[in-house]
Amino acid sequence: MARIAVIDYELCKPSKCHRECIAFCPVNLTGGKAIEFDEARRKPVIYEETCVGCGICVKKCPFKAISIVNLPDELEKSVIHRYGRNGFKLYGLPVPREGRILGIIGKNGTGKSTALRILSGELRPNLGQVDGTTPSWDEVIRRFRGTELQNYFKKLAEGSIKAAHKIQYIDLVPRRVKGTVRQLLEKADERGIWRELVKELGLEKVLDRDIRQLSGGELQRFMVAAVLSKDATLYLFDEPSSYLDVRERVRVARTIRSYAPNNSYLVVVEHDIAMLDYLSDYVVIMYGEPGVYGIASKPYGVRAGINHFLRGYLPAENMRIRSEPIRYTITATPSETTLSLKTYISWSKLTVSLNGFQLRVEEGELHEGEVLGVVGPNGIGKTTFVRVLAGELKPTEGSVSKPAGTLKVSYKPQYVSPSLFGEDKTVEEVLAEANKSVLAPGSWLNVEILRRMRLDRLLDRRVGELSGGELQKLAVAVALAREADIYLLDEPSAYLDVEERLAVAKIIKRLTEARGAAAIVVEHDIAVQDYIASRIMVFTGTPGVEGHAHQPASLFDGMNTFLKELGITIRKDPETGRPRINKEGSFLDRLQKRLGKYYYI
Ligand code: ADP
Ligand code: ADP
Ligand code: SF4
Ligand code: SF4
Repeated sequence: MARIAVIDYELCKPSKCHRECIAFCPVNLTGGKAIEFDEARRKPVIYEETCVGCGICVKKCPFKAISIVNLPDELEKSVIHRYGRNGFKLYGLPVPREGRILGIIGKNGTGKSTALRILSGELRPNLGQVDGTTPSWDEVIRRFRGTELQNYFKKLAEGSIKAAHKIQYIDLVPRRVKGTVRQLLEKADERGIWRELVKELGLEKVLDRDIRQLSGGELQRFMVAAVLSKDATLYLFDEPSSYLDVRERVRVARTIRSYAPNNSYLVVVEHDIAMLDYLSDYVVIMYGEPGVYGIASKPYGVRAGINHFLRGYLPAENMRIRSEPIRYTITATPSETTLSLKTYISWSKLTVSLNGFQLRVEEGELHEGEVLGVVGPNGIGKTTFVRVLAGELKPTEGSVSKPAGTLKVSYKPQYVSPSLFGEDKTVEEVLAEANKSVLAPGSWLNVEILRRMRLDRLLDRRVGELSGGELQKLAVAVALAREADIYLLDEPSAYLDVEERLAVAKIIKRLTEARGAAAIVVEHDIAVQDYIASRIMVFTGTPGVEGHAHQPASLFDGMNTFLKELGITIRKDPETGRPRINKEGSFLDRLQKRLGKYYYI
């Protein structure tokens, strides 16, 4: 076995501890040196050659900053990169193939971005050498002789890989780039296709808008257009689905498929499994321990790969990556599940007018403890509807029957920026403001929110230093921590990985039920919606002009109405129950459309 010792230097705080990690190390206590304090860095270092892996330092550190893991010796042959001594270690690399789309799926923190940076030539792999020297390209190529990687590294060494990269956190772009959509696309375009891309991606109406004024969905589509218009050998799309509604997700996937040059390399990192499935030709699963080490699996076919990932077992490597499989099931019909529930809020037919925007709502009701899934485009009146339910807005026609007084709404907006909470505040302060009981050890909110969402590790961190995924979790946690009558969560899964999305879905369900409140969850990841919603409410219309809110219906009927409107059919994977988008014009697509069963048969 090979041992790796990783110290999370963000968690390690020698000024706040008694350096227990060093004081209790049995190797040090018997005259050896497995761990010592590096005075220059003001942090401890562990020497893997002498450390015996007893794990005492792991247990003694009050900040849980140390991880020690033993991995098979065999794996060392495939080490690609290490971020310094006691840093994260990456084994293997997903290998792009000319003219094919490689999909990458896996937990956050297992090295996906690191892999992309290496593939694009931005980060030179050091083969795990931590003495400060970087191996030459010849050494790297020699190490991977006879493997698929050899050829790719050769191209990287020659400098013949030119990468175009759609970064994950697009929110950062308007801070660095200035101009209108038209100006920026004209400038980016190297293939003479920017006008076609604008049409394909529906950007016509925002062409003369400054990019600082774009909504998240518009910004995402703009970025996809800018990247595709580059004349590159390698196209990287890191989470292209965030902020897009379902129609836009499918549109973006189709555009990437049809506009990427035939002989280029294409890599997509995506946590919306329906989109990943639809977009990729083959997949690689990244697994390991977040922040400690990551391993790239062998390439798998799309269907098998995603299923292995969900099942938590990789047959080609004989490796269990999760103890429990992830299963999607279709919820029972409403007559069985909701008839017995108490009505919480009900409404007649409603009309709401807001300077120029009109919303029509069909009559319906919400039950106590219910999670209502909402689907539809952005700007269609979802928030307006919830404000009417709560009593904050008066409808022009119709009425709402609800418990007396104005109901309290706790809201997680679609876009979350550090300024929402204050960049300089710590996670602990932000949570305390939302509800002190989250921080009380052993309380149910403490267990559900802090522990299950794994925010306990982040308590000391400042909001401004959090990654997009961490910030998203904090925003969901804050919204759920507040005591309210209605919880409105707009795209709670953005930037979260598959497991985090499902964990958050479960927490939303449990808290809503236990409080007897109602949660309204706007979610464009169909697999997550399938997992979380007891019923579905569909919004249709023209964003910004008029919206039509349908009656809440069973998951099955609601999704059927929604998909019919989009002209998309979805089948169910027989092994895992996950939703799969049918290719347009395929046998099943035609059959399901004929039968009017857009969501499963
Ligand atoms: P993913 O994209 O799968 O979330 P990343 O490749 O971003 O994973 O990061 C994997 C781990 O590598 C992170 O948890 C972090 O601990 C570490 N890491 C990333 N970038 C650096 C860096 N520049 N220096 C040191 N460690 C890093
Ligand atoms: P969603 O939640 O579906 O994204 P919203 O309910 O926030 O949509 O908004 C629907 C439409 O109503 C949008 O065009 C928005 O610009 C408009 N709108 C929302 N609030 C107001 C308001 N207070 N005054 C005028 N227009 C508004
Ligand atoms: Fe203190 Fe833990 Fe850092 Fe050691 S690893 S110096 S015990 S915080
Ligand atoms: Fe020392 Fe054990 Fe920690 Fe290794 S794992 S540094 S031997 S305490």
